[in-house]
Amino acid sequence: MNFGEKPFTSDPPHFMKRTVSFTEQTRNVFLHILTACNLRCRYCYINPEQHGTEMLSTATIQAWLETLAHDQHATNLILLGGEPTLHPDLAQIVSIARDLAYKSITIDTNGYLFNDILDKVTPSDVDTFSFSLDGASAQTNDPIRGEGSFDRCVSGIAAAKERGFGVSLIYTVSAENINDLESMTSLLPHLAIDRFFIQVIGLRGRSATLRTDNGALAQLQIAGQTWLEHIPLIAEKIAQLGIPVIYPKVYLEKQEPFACAGLVSDNYFVFPNGRVYRCPLCEDYPIHSLEFQGDKLIQVPPINEKNLFELTVPEGCVMNRIIQPDNIMYHENGTPKYKIACCILKEELDPNSSS
Ligand code: SF4
Ligand code: SF4
Repeated sequence: MNFGEKPFTSDPPHFMKRTVSFTEQTRNVFLHILTACNLRCRYCYINPEQHGTEMLSTATIQAWLETLAHDQHATNLILLGGEPTLHPDLAQIVSIARDLAYKSITIDTNGYLFNDILDKVTPSDVDTFSFSLDGASAQTNDPIRGEGSFDRCVSGIAAAKERGFGVSLIYTVSAENINDLESMTSLLPHLAIDRFFIQVIGLRGRSATLRTDNGALAQLQIAGQTWLEHIPLIAEKIAQLGIPVIYPKVYLEKQEPFACAGLVSDNYFVFPNGRVYRCPLCEDYPIHSLEFQGDKLIQVPPINEKNLFELTVPEGCVMNRIIQPDNIMYHENGTPKYKIACCILKEELDPNSSS
């Protein structure tokens, strides 16, 4: 399908679409326990200059998890890398988090599942293994994520399912793979995953500096109109398979309120060099609002990301205005057609909530 030419058509929606709003009660800790990885994906958002290259010791991870746990508010923990299964103590880290009463534990993986991790943890330890694929076939996925990565990810999903783990799958949409997203409707029934996440590619890490063969910056982001015309309808098709689908809201209608998660919710994006961000779009810059110094979490003095969250711009999300202005569509008079939603705001299609 050529997405530039004709609108996508689909059956009318059958499922309740719900905007998943964030609240002060929602606490998520995204802990990067290392930045090393066996793959070298074209879109890798890890930026070693900004995030460090070290592998955190288990003692440090324990201290940081103790600091980030909360007595009153349940906290979800997402363990990431790099590839977190490269950490030899991952099972012990999971056990530490369980003892600290983290509400849920997710391990993000590229599917290689090193160190026999599936044999060292159980479904009562780890709620979800979250896999990443960027194509419905090796032909689309492997040029982006690496030779052989499609097959390894698919077999990793099967192994995790076989042992009874919850499994989700993330597909990061870019200009290089949007044409293959609809084909996931053929692949997903074979994978039997529990949730499907569609992500929009952000200009962070490698994707911010990736160049074509002739030296020009690679155009990875898709046009706003293309997103609006295709993504919600493809998400609907996937939900019709019985799989809950979550995808970024991206554009707000005039009547929809804008909120910056950096001001109204409790997310912590923690890197091995101690930086703690409240907004993932800020991660390529040294503007983190918090920082671990040793085992202590301290506030970083201004100017930091929090000062940006407090700015009000007609475009909505201030970081999109600064680093991803191509996402924004304007009327001829210069006013934005839509406000850009916070990147943390999601739409959910849940086949279990038929309308
Ligand atoms: S699997 Fe993740 S950490 Fe590894 S290269 Fe790909 S995007 Fe980066
Ligand atoms: S993505 Fe934009 S709106 Fe969301 S936390 Fe970051 S700056 Fe705020």
